[in-house]
Amino acid sequence: MAGMTSSARPLLNRRLTEFGTTIFAEMSALAVRTGSINLGQGFPDTDGPEEIREVAVRALRDGRGNQYPPGPGIPELRTAVAEHQLRRYGLSYDPDTEVLVTAGATEAIAAALLALLEPGDEVIALEPYYDSYAACIAMAGGKRVPVTLRPHQEGAGFRLDLDELRDAVTPRTRLLLLNTPHNPTGTVLTRPELAEIARLAVEHDLLVVTDEVYEHLVYDDAEHIPLATFPGMRERTVSISSAGKTFSFTGWKVGWVTADAPLVAAVRTAKQYLTYVSAGPFQYAIAEALRLPDAYFDTFRADLRRKRDLLGDGLRAAGFKVYQPQGTYFITTDIASSGEKDAYAFCRALPERCGVVAVPNSVFYDDPEAGRSQVRFAFCKRDDILHEAASRLRSLAN
Ligand code: GLN
Repeated sequence: MAGMTSSARPLLNRRLTEFGTTIFAEMSALAVRTGSINLGQGFPDTDGPEEIREVAVRALRDGRGNQYPPGPGIPELRTAVAEHQLRRYGLSYDPDTEVLVTAGATEAIAAALLALLEPGDEVIALEPYYDSYAACIAMAGGKRVPVTLRPHQEGAGFRLDLDELRDAVTPRTRLLLLNTPHNPTGTVLTRPELAEIARLAVEHDLLVVTDEVYEHLVYDDAEHIPLATFPGMRERTVSISSAGKTFSFTGWKVGWVTADAPLVAAVRTAKQYLTYVSAGPFQYAIAEALRLPDAYFDTFRADLRRKRDLLGDGLRAAGFKVYQPQGTYFITTDIASSGEKDAYAFCRALPERCGVVAVPNSVFYDDPEAGRSQVRFAFCKRDDILHEAASRLRSLAN
């Protein structure tokens, strides 16, 4: 029988039985199979800056990074990360002991959880959550404890209930896994919310892992403030980011960790046995990218904000309720307003119905019922593609 040995023992271990193929792989395969517009998996359809690609090409040609780079990452990139944290947020990290380069944020999350958790430790994470969190907590033997973000008023986004967060902390809580700007809801935690989270972490002596991959993708009045900047947090926070979203190179898988030296040493211990190193030539290119002038970041953000509004208008015209995102490149909608009930069934049928692919948020909840009518659309696509997708989605309303 498939998936069994002759002793009838399942091949996949107990920790992973609940995890099948990721929704992103499933939906991207569906898009390819049906020739649909892919607003499911979050990746841009326009590559990052030409001059940064050129740096990678030169590195390849000049033989920089073609062999194993240093375990913690090349010094040029570690220095650029430290400079970025100082320039943007006033956070000072030693490039030699307090910065670690990883294979994307994904490896950083995995390594942090594998390094910092004992079996049975509880990890609080904001739900709906990015799918790798549940899997990595499980691989580390931890227990996930969701705190659910909820739509707080008509047309606006999702918010965290701080009382719920407080109530979720138990004597077994070891770690808070915090994602802001938040995928999939687009929520950006505010200064008062972060201050309260910091107080809670200090009071209960919790470690915090922050996933900040969308740090530069914030709109309107929203501001990304790293939790590590709050009192008492630098020594207990592992901050994670990556180049994929900020520079539109999701395939390069260059990520990093910044934290106090003992935390980086712990994460590095796990990381060195996962990939050891990765993305040699690309590390040189991202070192340059992090030093791009403010104009790059401002233009990128302004472009995405326009795309958010373009797709948001299209989704509203198609009859969906839109939860306005303040960050990321995703829009979460409620499809119940257009008479649809089940996000997963809707997303599976959507290519056939109108040639568009999206992602059901229900898979990001422990209890899929909680997100049963929520569907996520990515807006990191060319304007003409977004117009076409909006027009196709509008045809559903007719
Ligand atoms: N982060 C991307 C998203 O949310 C997907 C990355 C992946 O496929 N693992 O769409």
